[in-house]
Amino acid sequence: MGTTVFERQRPAASVIARSLAETRQSVFWLDDLPEQPSRAALHGDHAADLVIVGGGYTGLWTALLARRRDPDARIAVVEARTVGWAASGRNGGFCDASLTHGRDNGLSRWPEEIDTLDRLGMQNLDAMGADIVEWGIDAEWERVGALSVATEPHQLDWLDEWVEDAAARGDDNLVRLDETQVRASVASPTYLGAVFETRSNALVHPGKLAAGLARAAQERGIEIFEHSPVRRLDTSGDGVEVVTEGGRITARKAVLATNVFPSLLRRNILMTVPVYDYVLMTEPLTAEQRAAIGWDDRRGLSDLANQFHYFRQSADGRILFGGYDAIYHYGGRVRAEYENRPESFEKLASHFFTMFPQLEGLQFTHRWAGAIDTCSRFCAFFGSARGGKVAYAAGFTGLGVAATRFAGEVMLDLLDGIPTERTSLRMVRDKPLPFPPEPAAAIGINATRWSLDRADHNRGRRNVLLKTLDALGLGFDS
Ligand SMILES: Cc1cc2nc3c(=O)[nH]c(=O)nc-3n(C[C@H](O)[C@H](O)[C@H](O)COP(=O)(O)OP(=O)(O)OC[C@H]3O[C@@H](n4cnc5c(N)ncnc54)[C@H](O)[C@@H]3O)c2cc1C
Repeated sequence: MGTTVFERQRPAASVIARSLAETRQSVFWLDDLPEQPSRAALHGDHAADLVIVGGGYTGLWTALLARRRDPDARIAVVEARTVGWAASGRNGGFCDASLTHGRDNGLSRWPEEIDTLDRLGMQNLDAMGADIVEWGIDAEWERVGALSVATEPHQLDWLDEWVEDAAARGDDNLVRLDETQVRASVASPTYLGAVFETRSNALVHPGKLAAGLARAAQERGIEIFEHSPVRRLDTSGDGVEVVTEGGRITARKAVLATNVFPSLLRRNILMTVPVYDYVLMTEPLTAEQRAAIGWDDRRGLSDLANQFHYFRQSADGRILFGGYDAIYHYGGRVRAEYENRPESFEKLASHFFTMFPQLEGLQFTHRWAGAIDTCSRFCAFFGSARGGKVAYAAGFTGLGVAATRFAGEVMLDLLDGIPTERTSLRMVRDKPLPFPPEPAAAIGINATRWSLDRADHNRGRRNVLLKTLDALGLGFDS
């Protein structure tokens, strides 16, 4: 087995220890919010036309898009804790146009509609930017594009194939950068080449996006209840009822936007598993540190291995560095105690200084983790239940910042019951295979993760397990 650059060029243990010494376990994006309004819990009996369970991006986009469709509808959002506290407030803020967790995944599953999916994804990203402007949301939206960097020689072939394939289709979104060009953009001695995606990506401040969507929703008459876990979804007359400890909302229709959390529909309980992803945030860079790395174009970056890093700047000149470890905990629960994993943070810090040795001495101020909403096809699935009165979407598998907006449109189409281009997609009509119950889930997921790590150490070559999973269209990703 080979080694990766992150193992060959490890920084000294003292560099890593010093960089993490002052780090606190806290989500930078949520700490960075101006004071947020406190919202009441649900008490007593209420009525609505549409009730939405879950106050992350999926629930909030759906509420606002529903308002656009019907200016008079009574719309309520019921959130277990506070809006945006979960994945929506703690992600990397990469807004990728892809609705399918990358073109390759979509192409392997729905080859006949991949061009439509790509078009709809780009339209969705454009519409997301337009909505943010229309609703006056200050979410530090930057349509800067994204760089995928090769850090191992065998990955250069992947970059070439990617660009050649796009060019053959007449897609001019991609630009191939050689070693000199990529290092002129971001000065890392580990970069051997890159692909620049010029139009299909933006960056956003995740916490400000969630908070801004919630504010815009309330300004448009949408009620938001916080601290109100929904315990049950009942059918009631010709509508539905969502029931919390303290109250209930009877509504004509409901949207379930609960993502990786236990579904209120039995059929969806095994559809997603939480996979923990770890993130570090540095202090703001000094002018000298900035000059040492360049990165004036502020593009979002990721590298290319199966276990990949993603990294970007904040508005105040910090660097967010996340990814690589993707940890599944036996039992598949979402638990606060899984968020502090010292070995993952040490690994991230080590890889950071391999990538940017000129920044030795820089401190990390924040560390956090979040549960990735993994499903076996790596991109969201959709559906309706209870005679078409309930719609759901979940399973974005680590690429949901933009795709959740598309999911909102799909769920509203399903509830309207009128066929649209979106609802006629096989991607929308097909369902993924569920994960097996324990212990098979943990054995399968950890075997796949081990195989992905081996592939990263073996010029990307996939072993028998991965090839079998590829053939079945099954897998595990973050
Ligand atoms: C660390 C990390 C990094 C990521 N980075 C990126 C990235 O850079 N780009 C990208 O595109 N995607 C990324 N993702 C994925 C992205 O954040 C998610 O796909 C997206 O936020 C999903 O939004 P959501 O609203 O569906 O889910 P969530 O944000 O998880 O919201 C679901 C909400 O439902 C509520 N809820 C659940 N059950 C109930 C109930 N019974 N009653 C009431 N409320 C309930 C929860 O409290 C929660 O607030 C990342 C995820 C993580 C964890």
